[in-house]
Amino acid sequence: MKIAIIGAGLAGLTCAITLEKHGYQADIFEKRGMVGDRFVISEAMFSMFHTPYKDAVKYFSEIHDIHLKPSSNLQKIYIHSENETSFIEGHLGFTNMRGKHPEAYEKQLADQLQTKIHYNQEVSYEKISKEYTHVVLATGDAMDTKKLQPFDVAFKATFKGAIIEGNFIESETHTFFNNNFAPKGMSYILPHSDTEASLVLVYPQYPENEALDKEELWQKCLSECAIRLDQEIMIVKEYSLKDYRVGKIQTPRIGNTFFVGNCFGAITPLIGFGEFESMLTGIYAAHDIVGIGDYEELVKPLNQSYHDSLSLRRSLEKLDNQQLDLLTKAIDNKTIESLITNKNINLLKILGRLVHPFSRKA
Ligand SMILES: Cc1cc2nc3c(=O)[nH]c(=O)nc-3n(C[C@H](O)[C@H](O)[C@H](O)COP(=O)(O)OP(=O)(O)OC[C@H]3O[C@@H](n4cnc5c(N)ncnc54)[C@H](O)[C@@H]3O)c2cc1C
Repeated sequence: MKIAIIGAGLAGLTCAITLEKHGYQADIFEKRGMVGDRFVISEAMFSMFHTPYKDAVKYFSEIHDIHLKPSSNLQKIYIHSENETSFIEGHLGFTNMRGKHPEAYEKQLADQLQTKIHYNQEVSYEKISKEYTHVVLATGDAMDTKKLQPFDVAFKATFKGAIIEGNFIESETHTFFNNNFAPKGMSYILPHSDTEASLVLVYPQYPENEALDKEELWQKCLSECAIRLDQEIMIVKEYSLKDYRVGKIQTPRIGNTFFVGNCFGAITPLIGFGEFESMLTGIYAAHDIVGIGDYEELVKPLNQSYHDSLSLRRSLEKLDNQQLDLLTKAIDNKTIESLITNKNINLLKILGRLVHPFSRKA
């Protein structure tokens, strides 16, 4: 077997580590000069979306012998709508660094690998597939998938983000659901430390959103964050991203080509997160290659949660600010909080039921 992995991101690296653990070495190609050679941000894994694997870090360690050191445990998530604020508390997940940061997850994964990564190698699938028996497509870009099979795009998203300075509590995150600046989308603050955080504004590129003034949305977002956190927000660095595709592939595998991470469609439509799913698909592809699993079978639960997540998003998108206020208020209720934090409950299904009556009124 001659295995190539295109892309040394989360999915490519977990695939390579798992292959190594079973005695196989892949040729790993990375177009950049080092892993995570891009802007620094904080990302999060919310436990409530990973049923039945509520503690992702423990799960990767104990089940897959892949060890991640998050930057913080998430203990409190604030939910802000236009006129309401509520929060949920508990063991809610983790934050971690990405990009050019010494503790970035891609760096942590690369450190667990013996195999050398071939840097500055932007390879094409067409060329690689002739030389290798197995190819793992892990470029983090659904457009690469689209060259090989249909990729059903649910929506494209615009990200505007910044590293901000202020006073933060590392274990607390703030989320904003407010159509005034995050139309059919959301904004969130994930602390890197007590003094620095990532602020992200993300919304779908629907025609009605495209007609809006992007800078105005961003300025409104900044001022709302300042008001809700009751402090001045100092911007250290900004970035923006467009055309981030959220969608699903037709088949996770064609012949001996495996689609993993964002190339698989790992992004969950509800909040646009995909770290957990990306790492999982990398591991699962490796299991298939070494003969201890069937990739198509292993990813079936991910397909199901993608569809649950998409239908919940479609319901949420119908809500105006008044309805978002009602929903936020409803979350500020111990019964609902315990449903959300219950380890045995599939949150996507529960939330779908909660949101449904609100969206029916829309
Ligand atoms: C702004 C932003 C915030 C996010 N926040 C969160 C969050 O909070 N929580 C969460 O769970 N998810 C989040 N996500 C999504 C998450 O980052 C992705 O789902 C995940 O990184 C995808 O992993 P991957 O391995 O598919 O791709 P990546 O980790 O992006 O890795 C792809 C790698 O392939 C390399 N590459 C590309 N093309 C080639 C080529 N032709 N040849 C060789 N190498 C190539 C790239 O340089 C890169 O290193 C966020 C995404 C963005 C954009």
